[in-house]
Amino acid sequence: MKLVSVVVPCYNEQEVLPMFYDEITKVTTQMSADFPELTFEYLFINDGSKDNTLAILRSLADRDKRVRYISFSRNFGKESGMYAGLKNARGDYVVVMDADLQHPPAFLPQMYSYVRNGEYDCATTRRVSRKGESKVRSWFARLFYKIMNKISQTEIVDGAQDFRFMTRQMVDAILEMSEYNRFSKGIFSWVGFSVRYIEYENVERPAGSSSWSFWGLFKYSLEGIMAFSTAPLAISSLLGIVSCIIAFILMIITVIKTIVFGEDVAGYPTTICVIFLLSGLQLFCTGILGNYLAKTYLETKHRPIYIASETEEIYRKRKQESSGSAISDNKDKK
Ligand code: UDP
Ligand code: MG
Repeated sequence: MKLVSVVVPCYNEQEVLPMFYDEITKVTTQMSADFPELTFEYLFINDGSKDNTLAILRSLADRDKRVRYISFSRNFGKESGMYAGLKNARGDYVVVMDADLQHPPAFLPQMYSYVRNGEYDCATTRRVSRKGESKVRSWFARLFYKIMNKISQTEIVDGAQDFRFMTRQMVDAILEMSEYNRFSKGIFSWVGFSVRYIEYENVERPAGSSSWSFWGLFKYSLEGIMAFSTAPLAISSLLGIVSCIIAFILMIITVIKTIVFGEDVAGYPTTICVIFLLSGLQLFCTGILGNYLAKTYLETKHRPIYIASETEEIYRKRKQESSGSAISDNKDKK
C-alpha cells in the first residue's frame, strides 16, 4: 500500500474549504478505485485564520478519519504552512495544493501516473495564461521571472506553481533545506530531481479572495531574489568600480584644465550634483548589503518556522477525554 498525503495551507478559507473537501474526496475516491495501492490522508494547515476555518477543520476531522490538521498560533505565511505540511506528512507521496481550487484536484490522477513508475520525482502544473489577473500584475510577474533567471543560477520556470505531486525522496530533500527565509519556488527548483510540467489555463477562485496584495507580491519577489542570488551585491560593487573610473577620468580632466587654463573656482553646481549622486549611490549599496545582513541575522537566530497551537490529534484526544468524563459524571449522578 502507498499513502498519499495531501497538504493544504489554508488562511481564511471558510468559503471554499467545504467545496475543496468535496472535490478532493471525489477525486481521491476515484483514484483509490483506479489504483488500488493508494490510500490518502489530508493534512490541512490552518495558518492563523481569523474566520471559521479552524471550526470547519474540526468538523471535518470529526467526520473523516483521514483528515488531519495543524493549526498555527498566528499567521506565519504560506511558506511556513507548506513547510509544516511537508514535515508532518506521513505519505510515500506528498501533494501540495491550495485550498481555493485554483489547483484543480482533477489533475491528481495524471500527476500520479507520471511519478508512479519512477520516471519522474515530481509532477507539477504550469499556468500558460494569467486569465483573471490584472495586466500590470502580469507584466511585473513576467519581469520578475526574467530578472530572476538572469541573475540566479536556480532556474525558476515562469508560471510554475506550488501545486506538486512529489515522491518521499524529494520531500526529504526539501526538508533538509531548513532555512528560515523560505522561497518555495526556488527551493523546489534548487533540489533538482526530474520534474514533469503539465500546462493549463489559469483557474479563478470560486469564492473568497486572494490574500496577496500587489505590495505583498513585490516584497515577496525581492525576498526571492535575495534568497537565491547574491547578484545585487555584485552589482553594487560594479557600481562602485564604475563611479571610481568616472572620478579618475574627471580628476585627469580637471588637472589638465587647471594647468592649461589656470585656477578656476566655477563648477559649484556640478560639485553638488556629484556629491548627491555619489552619496545616494553609497546609501543604495549599503542598503543592499544591509538587507543581506538582516537575512543572515534572522537565519542565525534559528527561530522556529512555525508554532502549532492545535492538531487533530490533540483535538481528538481532548474530545475523547471530555466525552469520557461526561460518561463518568452520568454514572456518578445515577
Ligand atoms: N495561504 C496561507 N497563508 C497565508 C496566505 C495564503 O496558508 O498567509 C494559503 C491560502 O489559504 C491558499 C494558498 O495559500 O490556500 C494560496 O493563497 P491565495 O489564493 O491567497 O494566493 P494566490 O492564489 O492569489 O497566489
Ligand atoms: Mg489562490
